Amino acid sequence: MNKKIWLSSPHMGTNEQNYVKDVFDSNWIAPLGAYVDGFEKDIASYTHTAYAAALSSGTAALHLALILAGVGAGDEVICQSMTFSASANPITYLGATPVFVDSETSTWNMDPVLLEEAVKDRIAKGKTPKAIIPVHLYGMPAKMNEIMEVANRYGIPVIEDAAEALGSRYHDQPCGSIGKLGILSFNGNKIITTSGGGALIGNDEALISKSRFLATQARDPAPHYEHSHIGYNYRMSNVCAAIGRGQMEVLEERVARRRANHQHYVDQLSGIAGITFVAEPAGFFSNRWLSAILVDPSVSNGITRETVRLVLEKENIESRPLWKPMHMQPVFAQAPAYVNGVSENLFNNGLCLPSGSNLTTADLFTVTDHIKELFAGKTANVNVSPAYLS
Ligand SMILES: *Cc1c(COP(=O)(O)O)cnc(C)c1O
Repeated sequence: MNKKIWLSSPHMGTNEQNYVKDVFDSNWIAPLGAYVDGFEKDIASYTHTAYAAALSSGTAALHLALILAGVGAGDEVICQSMTFSASANPITYLGATPVFVDSETSTWNMDPVLLEEAVKDRIAKGKTPKAIIPVHLYGMPAKMNEIMEVANRYGIPVIEDAAEALGSRYHDQPCGSIGKLGILSFNGNKIITTSGGGALIGNDEALISKSRFLATQARDPAPHYEHSHIGYNYRMSNVCAAIGRGQMEVLEERVARRRANHQHYVDQLSGIAGITFVAEPAGFFSNRWLSAILVDPSVSNGITRETVRLVLEKENIESRPLWKPMHMQPVFAQAPAYVNGVSENLFNNGLCLPSGSNLTTADLFTVTDHIKELFAGKTANVNVSPAYLS
């Protein structure tokens, strides 16, 4: 079997292990600690925000952000449909209902025109949405000016899901720093990782301090344990933060490598009929967390994204269809959705290619050579199950 080529695997730098050793030497193996404080400063400074709270996951960060936005049982929250389920799940933790909004084609993110239609319709039906969650999918910034305009017009706070977009910028503003609150993820597959972790970022000191309070079991100031709120155990451990501080030192290199991967795919594959990419609109800077292609079977002699995926799988190369939109997920079948067909088309025709910052040039050519052979008609038939696509 050929060496496995992963979609996106952890890529440690040089200092992570030294910092973890330092944590062990000091026996500060705990949630909280000097590395957590330092990591929070690193994140705030990098994202041009005043404050950051390091947490156990991006999902936890989103859960706390929704609580801070005042979301409760019976409320509605607007969420991008084209995303990973973790963008929407925390809405339901609070007994609120997600309202899904489809994407536009230039960034694959929330369509601001459809967003306004959705907001108007929800208000007409009796409920003003409590928050709007746009997502910077695969690192590509959403159209934030247009989204913020709609949000401000109706007085609805924006929580940016920047879990995939650390290192991305929208007109020079770091993703996650534009809305009222932003969330980041340091899960194992993200552009940098703490093995598992996340952060809540923003400029409102009261909100970020409250998130730290809620994340440490909501302990009121008292010598005994006194509680006037329901709390959570959502803080990041000092061990994970030590890894995070090492990873922050190499973040810019990781962004450059992921962008170079994307450029390789564009250089090698964009001449093939039936393969297209999403380009950066002017002023948008994507970290290119994952590189994705769209495969149009009507132009490619019937080759689908699933044909490509199975050919790569046979060669021990991991690729993955784009996120299946939330409005198409069985678990959210009852949720209201404002749909234009864009995300469904992306799901049907899109494939994420190996995108890790630790891929070699040889790995990248292995991937693109197999795809080129397939489109040149030189690959033996693979079995495509149409049931998988439905
Ligand atoms: C990874 C991810 C999350 C969740 O982050 P975790 O740290 O895994 O909980 C949320 N939203 C998006 C878009 C993600 O990709």
